Amino acid sequence: MAEIDHSQNRPPTAYARDVFDRCVAALEMEPGSIELYANDLVGQHAVGMAAFIGKRRIVLYRPASMARLEVSTRKGWGGVKVMAHEVGHHLWYMRHGWDQSSWERELGADYYAGVALARLGAGTIDLDDYFAWAFYADGTDKHPDTVLRMRALRRGWIDGGGKGAPETDLDKLYAMYWERMTRWWPDDHPEHPKFKRSKK
Ligand SMILES: [Zn+2]
Repeated sequence: MAEIDHSQNRPPTAYARDVFDRCVAALEMEPGSIELYANDLVGQHAVGMAAFIGKRRIVLYRPASMARLEVSTRKGWGGVKVMAHEVGHHLWYMRHGWDQSSWERELGADYYAGVALARLGAGTIDLDDYFAWAFYADGTDKHPDTVLRMRALRRGWIDGGGKGAPETDLDKLYAMYWERMTRWWPDDHPEHPKFKRSKK
């Protein structure tokens, strides 16, 4: 949990509130059990964050990042995915605590995001909205690579009763991103993503 200046928390927009409430309901958490705020200081690259103020459960979103995500996705499912992921962090915490690696916690939140997306009626084609925008061939200290994250989302999707064939679709989408991503990299370039690609 990074230090956040909660004095900068602002009430969310009506749209953000609606998406968030639907995610809370989809994950069968108590209405009002988590507070939502807009906060510009949610990490430079972050779109959202789960946090605590004492025992109060908080989700923050960074308006500038969510706005960029929103305009680059088709029907708003990218934003829903982010909110579901942050709510999923709190649900994961309630069930498993924080005593795992950062990657395990992120994949747990992605799993619950998949559950929520299935229950909210997202189609298989909608599942990639977020990952198309934030595609990573390799993981960071905090976040796993996109392959692992899509797999976790897929597991949640299936367990949430999603209709369709997310396995095939997500594999196809990953292959598409990979092809696009590598179009501009000379094969022997030391920074070519293939040298970093997860073997998991
Ligand atoms: Zn996360």
